Amino acid sequence: MRAGELAKALTERLSPVSDCADFEARCLLQHFCSLTLSDIYLDKEVERIPEEALETAVEQRLAHRPLQYILGKWEFMGNPFIVNENVLIPRPETELLVECLLDSIQQSSVVYDLCSGSGCVAISVAKLTGAKVYAVEKYPQALEVLQKNIALNSAETLEALQWDITQAPGADWEKADCILSNPPYIEDAVVKTLQTEVQQEPFAALAGGEDGLDFYRAIASNYTDLLKPGGWLALEIGEGQESALKEIFKDLRYVRTVSDYNNIARIVIFRKEQQ
Ligand code: GLN
Repeated sequence: MRAGELAKALTERLSPVSDCADFEARCLLQHFCSLTLSDIYLDKEVERIPEEALETAVEQRLAHRPLQYILGKWEFMGNPFIVNENVLIPRPETELLVECLLDSIQQSSVVYDLCSGSGCVAISVAKLTGAKVYAVEKYPQALEVLQKNIALNSAETLEALQWDITQAPGADWEKADCILSNPPYIEDAVVKTLQTEVQQEPFAALAGGEDGLDFYRAIASNYTDLLKPGGWLALEIGEGQESALKEIFKDLRYVRTVSDYNNIARIVIFRKEQQ
C-alpha cells in the first residue's frame, strides 16, 4: 500500500477521537512503519506494514489513550523523551520554562528542576547550558523514566534526586543559581473534568490541591532559602494563577511573566535580591 493511502485511512479512523487526526496518523506511520515525513508526502510505497501493532495502536487511541503513551516517546526542545503513564507528557508551553532563563544560566551554575517527571525540563537545560542540574522527583516510577531519559540524552551534568518537595531540602544541598519548576497546578476537583486523554496522565502530576497552589506554597516555604542571593526562580503556572503567585512569592522580587502561544500568562519569574 502507498503511504498517502495509509495515512488517509488512519486519519479517518482516528478522527472520532482527535482534532488533529492527520497529524496523529502521520506520527503512527513514522513510528510503526519507519517512514519519514517526506516518505509520506511523496506517497512512497510502504514496504512493511506491521498490521497487528498498528491495529493495537489505533484501538488504544480510539479508547482515548494519549498518542504519546502509545508511541512511548515524545519530542521536547528537539530531543527525544521516553514517556509512559508514570509521567506527565511534555507540553510545548513548558519549552518556555526552559528558554526563559537560558541567558542567565552558565556552565558554572547550579540549577534545580523541582517535580521533574520525565526530566524534560532538567535534561534540556543541562544539554543547552552545561550547568549542573539536579532533577528532583518524588515518585520511583517517574524516576525510572527520568533515569532512562538522562541516559538517552547523554545528559552528563545532571543528577536525579528522589525527594518530596513538600519537605525542606537537605542541609547539605548545594545552593542554587536557578530553580525551575512545572509543578502540578490544577485544582483537584477540576482534574476529573478534563479531557479523557489528560486523565490518563498521573493524577499526582496534575493535581495541585484544592486551589491548585499547594506546590507553589511548598516551594515558597521550603526552597527560597536554597536560592543564592541574585538567584532566579521560574515557575510554570495555570491560567489565572499569576496574581496568586505574586502574593505567594512576595518575599522575592517579581521580574516578569511570559505568555504562551495562546497568550495565557504561563511562566512567572522571580529573583532573590542581592544582599
Ligand atoms: N517537569 C515535567 C514536565 O514539565 C513534569 C511536570 C509534572 O509532573 N507536573 O513535563
